[in-house]
Amino acid sequence: MSHVHSFSTTRPLFGQVALVTGASRGIGAEIARTLAKAGAAVAVNYFSQRDAALEVVAKCQAYGSKAIALQANVADKAAIAKLVEDTTVLLGAPTILVNNAGRAHAELFLDTKEQTFDALMDANLKAPFFLAQAVLPGMLRVQYGRIVNISSIWGIAGGSLEVAYSASKGGLIAFTKALAKEVAPSGITVNAVAPGAIETDMLRHLSAADREQLLRETPVGRLGTPQDVAAAVLFLASPTASFITGQIISPNGGLVI
Ligand code: NAP
Repeated sequence: MSHVHSFSTTRPLFGQVALVTGASRGIGAEIARTLAKAGAAVAVNYFSQRDAALEVVAKCQAYGSKAIALQANVADKAAIAKLVEDTTVLLGAPTILVNNAGRAHAELFLDTKEQTFDALMDANLKAPFFLAQAVLPGMLRVQYGRIVNISSIWGIAGGSLEVAYSASKGGLIAFTKALAKEVAPSGITVNAVAPGAIETDMLRHLSAADREQLLRETPVGRLGTPQDVAAAVLFLASPTASFITGQIISPNGGLVI
């Protein structure tokens, strides 16, 4: 379809609709702003922080793009269906899905309860799985789509004290690769971005000593920013990245190579 392929160097995503989950704060908020700046209409999904989501929407609109805030717990399959339906009615069927919403939890493996395991799997793996399932029919109709899953370096390398989180993010990488193969013939790419340590609320629990150690182990010599992640997402979400699928890009400052 011509509208999804119209291309300008300043607004490469003009005419497209992006659904970004967990976009009220942190990495997701920056991804939403970045895609809006590139011309996409953006659905800013949030869980609890409505005011923060509305601020992100205002910023997206200031870039001249349409944007709306949509509350949904993406760990709930019924809520996913409504989220995609509302996005489609209000903005159009998503041609870009960024599965960013996620939860982290640090504790000893032997202390990890079934409830914690289920909560991490639901948010980090089940949600992206069924969100992709919900947006795919629309992408198949136009034979075009970009799905970007936000994994983690711990999904590649494994993180001590984050065994359940690592398992969910590693599962997301395998999901990315398998779905990439299945939908590639339909013009849809599926890739993952696996960030290293990024300055957001998610790192708030780190002690000063932990931060110091992370910095020492990061060759670039700083922690990452949401912008570092959003730049990779923008690249993978753009029409020009059509030959890249099933790949994992890891903005991590060299922490894991
Ligand atoms: P964050 O600051 O904790 O923000 C989490 C976002 O996800 C918020 O917008 C939150 O919404 C939303 N959210 C959480 N559970 C949700 C649910 N069930 N349904 C809908 N939205 C939900 O996290 P972040 O650091 O930006 O992380 C974003 C993604 O990057 C996550 O997948 C994370 O695993 C991954 N990541 C982060 C780092 C890092 O160092 N920060 C490193 C590697 C990977 P509300 O605010 O509305 O509640």
